[in-house]
Amino acid sequence: MGKPLLELTEQGYYCARADVYIDPWRRVQRAIVTHAHADHARPGMGQYLAHRDSEQVLRLRLGASISLQTLNYREPIFMNGVEITLFPAGHVPGSAQVRLAYKGEVWVISGDYKLEDDGLSPAFEPVACQHFITESTFGLPVYRWRPQQEILSEINAWWKGLADSGENAVVSAYSLGKAQRVLRLLDRSIGPVYCHSAVAQTNRALEAQGFDFGLWQTLSEAPKEKVQGAILIAPPAAVGSAALRKWGDYQTGQCSGWMALRGQRRWSNLDRGFVLSDHADWTGLCRAVEATGAENVYVTHGYSAVFARYLREEKGLNAQTVKTMFSGDDAAEDLDKSLMMQAEKTGGES
Ligand SMILES: [Zn+2]
Ligand SMILES: [Zn+2]
Repeated sequence: MGKPLLELTEQGYYCARADVYIDPWRRVQRAIVTHAHADHARPGMGQYLAHRDSEQVLRLRLGASISLQTLNYREPIFMNGVEITLFPAGHVPGSAQVRLAYKGEVWVISGDYKLEDDGLSPAFEPVACQHFITESTFGLPVYRWRPQQEILSEINAWWKGLADSGENAVVSAYSLGKAQRVLRLLDRSIGPVYCHSAVAQTNRALEAQGFDFGLWQTLSEAPKEKVQGAILIAPPAAVGSAALRKWGDYQTGQCSGWMALRGQRRWSNLDRGFVLSDHADWTGLCRAVEATGAENVYVTHGYSAVFARYLREEKGLNAQTVKTMFSGDDAAEDLDKSLMMQAEKTGGES
């Protein structure tokens, strides 16, 4: 056997034959980007390739003038004989798994994914391969999600309770993915829906792609007097900021998979935690790996050592941990922070 089709380099995953990187973390000439979160889509690449639905958000985050080619799912292209195809990852709008195939050798790199269909991005599609690179952000058996409809009902009930007593609700959710998932399913009969600027910008970029999240307004459109019974969706970095304090009496709820563990540090600053994640839970990870039929599994992000050991010992797979440079949730949060500061500088609402 010669060199494998895909290797991990200092820049990120690299396919030498096609001369292309996947989600590189250093500047390279050609990058395939699985989705627009900050730890996967980084600035400064010569050319980008991504799913069509990522286009506007990538241009918002990386610059309008980036060189970007987009593909539909299951629409193969060839780079020096290597067949490259994107498949749905179900993580956030525009998220994709990347399949690379050459002379019968098939690799799939999952990017981030979840199995539950969120109604925004097409559901995760297992792709047969010999080598599967999987994320494992929530790769511990304690992480098992309840159906999102139940969580959204909880959020609506919490908001209704606050509205009935004249208070507002602030939901903390990442500006790409989580925010739109919540936004889509809020019960508008309870009160008005507002979005913080970082969320609003992302909404608009996605709406330009044809997404529809229902009625919402930016925070600056809120009346200056007392707002009552409203809900605001804001990125985690904005929650607790001075700007929100003048927004009247409110309680804060955070939507995150991390809320499943009460010991989480962030829990203590919040009034409510809602267990809603854009990543696969333990069951989802196990099902996804099995469905690929891959014998070789490379585990990255989160609890990779635990999940890789489980795959080796319980499933008899050739599984190993792969070290990458960034952990998803923190990077997404950093990006929310920078979008927020951008908006403040340009005179947007804060
Ligand atoms: Zn992500
Ligand atoms: Zn990630």
